[in-house]
Amino acid sequence: MNVVILGVTGQDGSYLAELLLQRGDSIHGVVRKTSQFNRSRIEHLRAAYPGRFHLHYADLSDRTNLRRLLIKIGPERLYHLAGQSHVGLSFDIAESTFDEVAVGTLSLLEICRDLENPPRILLIGSSEVFGEPEEVPQTERTPHRPSSPYGCAKSATLFLGEVYRHSFGLFVSCAIPYNHESIRRGMSFVTRKITSTAARISSGSEEVLELGNLDGARDWGHAPEYVEGMTRILESGRPDSFILATGTTTSVREFVSGAFASLGMNLHFEGEGVSEVGIISKTGKTVLRVNEKFFRPADPTRLIGNPGKIKKTLGWEADLAGGAVAARMAEEEVRLLSEG
Ligand code: NDP
Repeated sequence: MNVVILGVTGQDGSYLAELLLQRGDSIHGVVRKTSQFNRSRIEHLRAAYPGRFHLHYADLSDRTNLRRLLIKIGPERLYHLAGQSHVGLSFDIAESTFDEVAVGTLSLLEICRDLENPPRILLIGSSEVFGEPEEVPQTERTPHRPSSPYGCAKSATLFLGEVYRHSFGLFVSCAIPYNHESIRRGMSFVTRKITSTAARISSGSEEVLELGNLDGARDWGHAPEYVEGMTRILESGRPDSFILATGTTTSVREFVSGAFASLGMNLHFEGEGVSEVGIISKTGKTVLRVNEKFFRPADPTRLIGNPGKIKKTLGWEADLAGGAVAARMAEEEVRLLSEG
């Protein structure tokens, strides 16, 4: 199958490319021109699948080029994973986030609408569309109440997907993933910051991990599993929208504990609020401090997804959640460190 992946250099795009290449598909990944090479997550695939892994330059804002590219490739499947993906950053760069995530998606749908044989399209929403939700856990029918520019843009993405599905008969499916993490997550994300710092401390570093609200809680899963869920959604018999979630919630404090404990460092916490610290129980060494600088303007804490629909319809279920994800990541970080 001929597959286009927008966002192939990202965490999910790289796992997805890996999975589909293993399954025998031909992958056309879309990459941006950057001043520094940023293909560390997919470099190994270029070497392993020279005849089936192709890269093309394009940007979501460059619609003419995207149109030309899609006409030339004629994909049967299109996974749209591209766009600014950092919720906190979207408060600082709100306009470009909205342009990439919402308007970029609209342009893509317009291009696909004109193709002679439009591909099956997977759009990616986010749990952030629920922001301050009316109900816990959330389902596909929970009303959107986004609390960040990113959440607003993802909400537009999901509604656009439904409109183009119903009004133009395009095969547009949507995934609504809750947070999913891995060692391919960018370093600006709190999970990666936690697990990479834990690994360095376990190797002798004297640094102290600085975090914001430790009570912040998320429904955290493991990225490779979520990417597999995305393929199930797109290969299902009819287009639809599905939540991808673990159905459980873990606080930042618990995530930290899971990461450090997996490396043989059990922590206890002392103090409250901005005075709270995390201490290795055995040695008495302080390895975590709360820093107000990392608090978000709005921090949704009631985001828990109900994965019931995808489990029942497509048989997908998350194996790893919360502290287990933290442990897996921290162990893999140690391996990365040892590889230099
Ligand atoms: P990443 O940030 O790791 O990857 C984003 C990808 O989008 C990168 O390949 C990036 O390219 C590309 N990109 C960004 N802007 C543009 C642009 N203007 N034109 C072309 N490409 C662009 O995100 P993830 O892989 O973690 O997430 C994949 C999708 O899932 C995103 O839409 C994200 O918002 C969504 N999502 C992710 C969640 C998670 O927990 N990971 C949770 C909910 C939703 P470059 O490498 O050049 O920057």
